[in-house]
Amino acid sequence: MEKKNLDWSNLSFSYMKTDYRFVANYTNGAWDEGALTADDMITMSEDAGVLQYAQTVFEGLKAYETKDGRIVTFRPDLNAERLHDSALRLEIPPITKEMFLKSVQETVAANAAWVPPFGSGASLYLRPYIFGINPVIGVKPADDYQYRIFATPVGPYFKGGAKPISIKVSDFDRAAPHGSGNIKAGLNYAMSLHAIVTAHNEGFAENVYLDPATRTKIEETGGANIIFTDGNGTLVVPKSDSILPSITRRSLVYVAEHYLGMKIEEREVLLEEVMSGKFTEGGLCGTAAVISPIGKITDHGREFTFASGMEEMGPVMTKLRETLTGIQMGEIEAPEGWVVEIKL
Ligand SMILES: *Cc1c(COP(=O)(O)O)cnc(C)c1O
Repeated sequence: MEKKNLDWSNLSFSYMKTDYRFVANYTNGAWDEGALTADDMITMSEDAGVLQYAQTVFEGLKAYETKDGRIVTFRPDLNAERLHDSALRLEIPPITKEMFLKSVQETVAANAAWVPPFGSGASLYLRPYIFGINPVIGVKPADDYQYRIFATPVGPYFKGGAKPISIKVSDFDRAAPHGSGNIKAGLNYAMSLHAIVTAHNEGFAENVYLDPATRTKIEETGGANIIFTDGNGTLVVPKSDSILPSITRRSLVYVAEHYLGMKIEEREVLLEEVMSGKFTEGGLCGTAAVISPIGKITDHGREFTFASGMEEMGPVMTKLRETLTGIQMGEIEAPEGWVVEIKL
């Protein structure tokens, strides 16, 4: 199979139309089998449920090439489970894990020419989503839904090394207690847009959100979980019902414990602990960057810079990131079932 002629190492994180996407429809109370299509356009009613009441959930994962030339995905079964949980919370009929995995397999295989070559740092980003498609005017769940998954090649998250970022404590909330913070719903992102534009205008890369009830505990950023280390071999992971269960974060916790012999503390983390210097390093984690180091946190003018500083990623985050990416790339032996090969 001949690869597309793209400047792989200089791709940005933006949408590019690829050859095929997978589409399944839910009508008369059942999902059809779904199939690939070349058509990237969606035609729907002006009153579709997704347009009126934001009834939509999504996932994000990547396919990439390993050193020995295989195309693989990373723990797609966890994306299937999370999409299932997200769907139930928004009264969307979930798809089965089998259908999810089939759609990933077929979409990646059909777009194999778009999978960036090993070593480019780029990957084929996959975006699965389900949305209400029939007309809904009274507030209620839609009757009909569409599931789609498209693929788009994206560049390396860090060009020229992972530079620490500066983030601010937001005055906005991301997710209410008992709300939708723990599911991957488009509405959570709509909510975060004003906050992120505000943070960018003030010169910050991201917002860190606090728990809305007491505004004393660290939750996460708009699109990534947060982890800390104390420099004495402990990984500290904020715990809250309104944090999105990041697959990267759960994998890093496993890697820290089972590959690096670290101690894990999953608990409530006070902003005050962080600002008073309890931790030596902090990082944002998610599919796109794996770990992006936090250099500095600003809380209403009060600044805290981690011991790892603003120049480079600290040693613990570096080790964690290298171990997990080594596992993903097939250079370090992976736990059973983590790296799933696409059949061509
Ligand atoms: C998707 C997402 C993450 C990261 O999850 P991964 O499975 O690691 O990609 C973190 N926080 C939020 C709010 C998210 O939507």
